[in-house]
Amino acid sequence: MISINKINKFDLIVIGGGSGGVRAARIAALHGAKVALCEKDRMGGTCVIRGCIPKKLLFYSSQFNDFINISDAYGWNIKNTKYHLNKMIKNKNNELKRLEGIYEKNAIKAGVKIFKGFANFIDKNIVQINNKKIFGKKIIIAVGGIPQKLNIEGSNYAKDSNSIMQLKRLPKKMVIIGAGYIAIEFAFIFANLGVKIHLIVRKNILRGFDNDLVNQVKKNLENKNVNIYLNEEVKQIKKIKKKFIVQFKNSPRKILSDEVLIAIGRKPNIKKLGLDNIKLKYDKNDAIIVDKNLTTNIKNIYAIGDVTNRINLTPVAIAEGNALSDKIFSKIEKKIDLTNIGTAVFSSPPICSVGLTETEAINKIGAIDIYESEFNSLKYSIVKKKVSTYIKLLVNKKNDYILGAHMCGEDAPEIIQMIGVLINAKAKITNFINTMAIHPTVAEEFVTFKKPTRSYK
Ligand code: FAD
Ligand code: NDP
Repeated sequence: MISINKINKFDLIVIGGGSGGVRAARIAALHGAKVALCEKDRMGGTCVIRGCIPKKLLFYSSQFNDFINISDAYGWNIKNTKYHLNKMIKNKNNELKRLEGIYEKNAIKAGVKIFKGFANFIDKNIVQINNKKIFGKKIIIAVGGIPQKLNIEGSNYAKDSNSIMQLKRLPKKMVIIGAGYIAIEFAFIFANLGVKIHLIVRKNILRGFDNDLVNQVKKNLENKNVNIYLNEEVKQIKKIKKKFIVQFKNSPRKILSDEVLIAIGRKPNIKKLGLDNIKLKYDKNDAIIVDKNLTTNIKNIYAIGDVTNRINLTPVAIAEGNALSDKIFSKIEKKIDLTNIGTAVFSSPPICSVGLTETEAINKIGAIDIYESEFNSLKYSIVKKKVSTYIKLLVNKKNDYILGAHMCGEDAPEIIQMIGVLINAKAKITNFINTMAIHPTVAEEFVTFKKPTRSYK
């Protein structure tokens, strides 16, 4: 029997100081629980330090290029523009430091005791951190995920999403392996910054997204001179001086590149967590198995966010952390609804979706009306190089309810966020059509549909 002094006994231990973990710890402490939070790296986790926030700042940084390109049509004469990646990275890193501080300060202010170090289970109530053992009546695992490694010779030469956001100098050429969120976002970011991108895609891009959005993204990648190799994989990466030779698998093609980015998914970060010591169940992809109450097979241990590998997005991890601590330490009980979660890919222009894709709607509902439009927004009317906007609403023919909304175009995530609210409020297409437009905007196209462009059944 391990003896632990009172000071190291907690109502709740949270392992992982990312989006989900910090929220869970803070809410539990605000409900009066004695809470310990273990973080091995930097407070804020993936989203704040290595994900959403630095990515979005780099996305903003990359958008100026388009703005400068169209400025001439608007009467500006902008000459001799120069981009300094190192300055951008420095400013971004300063902002991340500030956010990290806020995360830490808010947790401490709520009464959370932070332990900095790697945590692992000794038994179902005891966690070891920095040679110290702490006891938790309840434990929440919120350790997130890490980049998936590609099992080929030379993959160690490639960057992942963590290291790519620390580059000091822009490469001339970059090979990107993968075709999900990260590969696509960075393909656009670096293409906008003038890097020649070669995107190697084992099948097609953006699996799971609506096909019309996939086609829009492909078209926009081509507009940015990105070379896309579909149905292709990489056999080997070789280093020659400071460059890399990327050897294709299905053809004799080789590309000489200054950088290689591998972005082929992420996996739950459970290594050395000691889950086998306590017989906690996880699946073949290392995802911790939870029931609908986020409880693992061990009653006092819960898991939230990316480590459960269901919907790996920040708002989901935060909502789960919040709801779980509310449920355990107060009488508030809120079910987390994982349907109709909006999601954006910050391509240029971005895409965003909420609800069913067209294929899903046809398979699940059958009889649907499709309202769609592709147009050049006013912004591009006097500009030579057009960037089109695509919008689509999927409607249940039987009752007029909106089943899904999809957009590719500037501010798509800002617009679709609100359509997410409408879908949850069970809005009908008539509610859209009966709404007065705000003019001149892009969003008004969603309320000025006259009739379906296509229908099924
Ligand atoms: P994390 O935020 O990963 O936090 C886990 C924490 O646990 C980490 O800080 C880690 O250091 C710590 N930890 C791990 N093991 C231990 C241990 N044994 N002991 C102590 N501490 C430990 N989502 C969006 O919604 N929008 C976006 O635009 C978006 N962009 C992204 C861009 C990139 C490049 C990446 C990689 C992800 C992006 N995501 C985005 C996904 C989002 O970041 C994650 O879904 C979210 O961060 C998950 O939160 P979490 O709390 O589950 O885990
Ligand atoms: P994704 O799961 O989005 O995509 C993985 C991609 O890698 C797919 O195109 C997949 O192809 C491909 N792939 C998988 N294995 C291999 C392989 N062995 N060789 C070649 N290609 C392979 O993963 P990401 O890494 O892009 O992002 C991880 C997660 O982070 C996302 O799923 C998302 O949850 C989150 N995220 C969210 C963002 C946002 O909200 N804007 C931004 C960035 C990340 P295939 O389709 O054939 O399986």
